[in-house]
Amino acid sequence: MAVAVERPANDELRNLSLSGHVGFDSLPDQLVNKSTSQGFCFNILCVGETGIGKSTLMDTLFNTKFESDPATHNEPGVRLKARSYELQESNVRLKLTIVDTVGFGDQINKDDSYKPIVEYIDTQFEAYLQEELKIKRSLFNYHDTRIHACLYFIAPTGHSLKSLDLVTMKKLDSKVNIIPIIAKADTIAKNELHKFKSKIMSELVSNGVQIYQFPTDEETVAEINATMSVHLPFAVVGSTEEVKIGNKMSKARQYPWGVVQVENENHCDFVKLREMLIRVNMEDLREQTHTRHYELYRRCKLEEMGFKDTDPDSKPFSLQETYEAKRNEFLGELQKKEEEMRQMFVMRVKEKEAELKEAEKDLHEKFDHLKRTHQEEKKKVDDKKKELEEELSNFQKKKAAAQLLQSQAQQAGSQQTKKDKDKKNASFT
Ligand code: GDP
Repeated sequence: MAVAVERPANDELRNLSLSGHVGFDSLPDQLVNKSTSQGFCFNILCVGETGIGKSTLMDTLFNTKFESDPATHNEPGVRLKARSYELQESNVRLKLTIVDTVGFGDQINKDDSYKPIVEYIDTQFEAYLQEELKIKRSLFNYHDTRIHACLYFIAPTGHSLKSLDLVTMKKLDSKVNIIPIIAKADTIAKNELHKFKSKIMSELVSNGVQIYQFPTDEETVAEINATMSVHLPFAVVGSTEEVKIGNKMSKARQYPWGVVQVENENHCDFVKLREMLIRVNMEDLREQTHTRHYELYRRCKLEEMGFKDTDPDSKPFSLQETYEAKRNEFLGELQKKEEEMRQMFVMRVKEKEAELKEAEKDLHEKFDHLKRTHQEEKKKVDDKKKELEEELSNFQKKKAAAQLLQSQAQQAGSQQTKKDKDKKNASFT
């Protein structure tokens, strides 16, 4: 049964004043309480060459010592290493994940250095998308590993960006909030730093690299964000070493000629980075990751899978219709494949049959040939046999004649001997 919803004709909302306290003004507090008890998560990706100061900066930023083992310079490729920590400040719990790009910039051929980073970011988006697509999803207590901020460490060359920096940032800018920073800024002179910063910014603009824009649409942060944007890329110094300055201990790097104070804004932009990354824009970075970067990944992925919001006539296309269309397309393809396979099978059988017939014919021919050869051989043998038999009978005949002659000769011989004996005897008597 359809339910009619009555609305004012001009669809406008009317302002009404309340005559007493109702209580919905506690809604923001309810949200704060809920979020606080749930805890927050924040994931930072540090991209930069080995030894550029990534681990030191993370330790300095969060005022702690994270586990890290210095990487060697002979990694065969770039590998991403993620480590998660539970931190607590006042009553706010933060699940922090720091992802390091081990081996970045260490290979002779750096063409593919950006690939493992892009793959890592996409894998985290994919994991979230898979959770979202589940029937029974649990996004409430899901450990979100999507990267909220990418700190890109630029070497303090004072010169310009390397092509590796530009290529990597270009590949990442649609997937993550990039905050470029100049590392080890204590190694670059003040006047050079100013020029270096403008050179980097103009190179980023001319190469169409989109870095994270500090939001200026919300009143409370608009001013500070607008002021801070001018200082990009932040030139930072990292150190966990505490040095006594006046009567206060502060983080610094000590040199024979002086001390660089990490938290002194005249020495470097560390404080600005901490303000922008953690104190002012952490929630915006999380939000941008979800509404901009993840949304883009999700849209492309669903479109790739064949889902769309409208049909070719720009009419809304429901999930059910997409599913039906995909199913029919799949079944059609399946039938086509089946038919192709059947035809292929018939063809193969025919080919095999022809092959067998050919082989049978060959065999027959071979058999006939052998038979003929055998008969010829047999005839030759028979002829030879006949010849031999004839020879044998001739021989027998000759042998018999010879024996006859021999016996006649013997007989004649013995008669002569007898005659001679008789003659001898007669002469004696
Ligand atoms: P990773 O390989 O990028 O994590 O670099 P590490 O944080 O391990 O730092 C490598 C070396 O650089 C260590 O000796 C650090 O003390 C030094 N280092 C770190 N940050 C700075 C910095 O801001 N300035 C200078 N001059 N050295 C730094």
